[in-house]
Amino acid sequence: MVDTLPSYLNGVWARGSGDGVPVLDAVTGDVVTRVSTDGLALADAVAHARTVGGWALRELGFSERAGILKGLAAALAERKQELYDLSARAGSTRSDAKVDVDGGFGTAMVYASMGRRELPEGNVIVEDEPIPLGREGTFVGQHVLTSRRGVAVQINAFNFPVWGMLEKLAPALLAGVPTIVKPASQTAYVTEHAVRIMVESALLPDGALSLVSGPVPGLLDALGGQDLVGFTGSAATAASLRSHDAVTRRSVRFTAEADSLNCSVLGPDAVSGTPEFDLYVEALVTEMTVKAGQKCTAIRRAFVPRQQQDEVADALVARLQKIVVGAPGADGVTMGALVGLGQREDVRAQVARLRTEAELLFGNPDSVEVTAGDDTRGAFLSPLLLRAGDDAVAPHEVEAFGPVSTLLPYDDVADLAGKVARGQGSLAGSVVSHDLDFVRDVLVEMAPHHGRILVLDRDDAAESTGHGTPMPQLVHGGPGRAGGGEEEGGMRAVHHHLQRTAIQGAPGLAETLMQRK
Ligand code: NAP
Repeated sequence: MVDTLPSYLNGVWARGSGDGVPVLDAVTGDVVTRVSTDGLALADAVAHARTVGGWALRELGFSERAGILKGLAAALAERKQELYDLSARAGSTRSDAKVDVDGGFGTAMVYASMGRRELPEGNVIVEDEPIPLGREGTFVGQHVLTSRRGVAVQINAFNFPVWGMLEKLAPALLAGVPTIVKPASQTAYVTEHAVRIMVESALLPDGALSLVSGPVPGLLDALGGQDLVGFTGSAATAASLRSHDAVTRRSVRFTAEADSLNCSVLGPDAVSGTPEFDLYVEALVTEMTVKAGQKCTAIRRAFVPRQQQDEVADALVARLQKIVVGAPGADGVTMGALVGLGQREDVRAQVARLRTEAELLFGNPDSVEVTAGDDTRGAFLSPLLLRAGDDAVAPHEVEAFGPVSTLLPYDDVADLAGKVARGQGSLAGSVVSHDLDFVRDVLVEMAPHHGRILVLDRDDAAESTGHGTPMPQLVHGGPGRAGGGEEEGGMRAVHHHLQRTAIQGAPGLAETLMQRK
């Protein structure tokens, strides 16, 4: 029988006991690994990370930790092929794997250089100028930021086993807070290998990084007021963790990135034949098919002016016909598999809900032609394009976490604003238009509902990083349904791991703290 996947706790690799739960290859259905944390002392691991890891990290300063982060990113970059190979077992094509793996170490690199540039020496940040609190100027107030003395428990979704880990690890490491990574079981073997590469680099002090490969019963019970939980995953799990005593009674700092019905808006100026029309179609197909649509930022709602609906639908169908679904790595394949058969069933069920109010324009949820694979054992699914009308409710409520998007009409900015808001808060939105007046009006309406908005036109397209790509320098997170968190966003993500304290006293007191490690 295949062994259970190791966890990395208390500075050593350890396997959970028993048979564990099998994790299947997304393409062949073979058992890749088993996950179990039975018999592992998770509370001891929290104590080890908090004491040994936290202390060792704080012995270093911000810039030394930035140097370590850069080294970790380089170690992962050097062995990226190993991670691509494993990612193929989770259904990812080479270009999907790059989004996760290269996107992951790229994010760590950016954080490392932001840390070097923007953080001071030592371990204390003085946030502001002295604020006079008395007439004579002998008594002032100033805010300082210092590393929390706890651990950052980082719970990740299955779709980005490398990037999802690194975008949370990077700010915690810079801040001097030890990390315990808990990947989703379905792709934990990819995260485990990335952690192994980082451990083998020998750059991290003992206790700075731990990994739990499997369920985490009781872990939150071990957390207190200096600890943090960063969660990415479904809204249902976010809600249950948010209501845990650790959060509600002991004030563990909690952020969530949950699901999101992201939208892309085509401007009325972007008629067929304009560059913006083509950009819109291309971006939508990209978002539907990269990682087989299993991206938290993928476009689920495609808003198109009512009079342009047919033209856009035709162009999308023509483009989707060129997508070749099949085994990652096989000749000609442009879209891989979903992460597993269970996920495919889930997507089919959500599509069935959408179809109660939407017509299917492209694809068949029940069968797809597969290159070099078998769709009974592999989790292959056709891209699915739907179209719904003004009164449809489901497209604004149902997230089908796969290659699925729904075309929706709008008449004017007011109509559009109301429909965008029905998504109840999103991570990412796009406006594709070359009409600045339209863009301005739409941005003002969309911004309160979004963490990030891409405005795409003929002038910025060549350098655009795309709708679906979070940037470490910019906010990644969104209001409401998207979880209400802000996972990335430059140094604010680092500050999230620091305690902000007002120091009152004589002028210059705060600066003297900076001279201490
Ligand atoms: P999920 O079932 O909620 O699982 C997410 C993570 O939570 C996994 O690591 C899971 O571990 C863990 N978990 C589940 N129950 C837990 C508990 N009681 N205590 C502690 N951890 C627990 O979500 P998913 O199916 O993996 O991810 C898909 C969803 O994530 C989609 O809805 C997608 O929109 C969202 N997502 C959002 C973002 C974003 O940045 N906002 C990014 C990616 C995905 P196990 O796997 O071991 O159960």
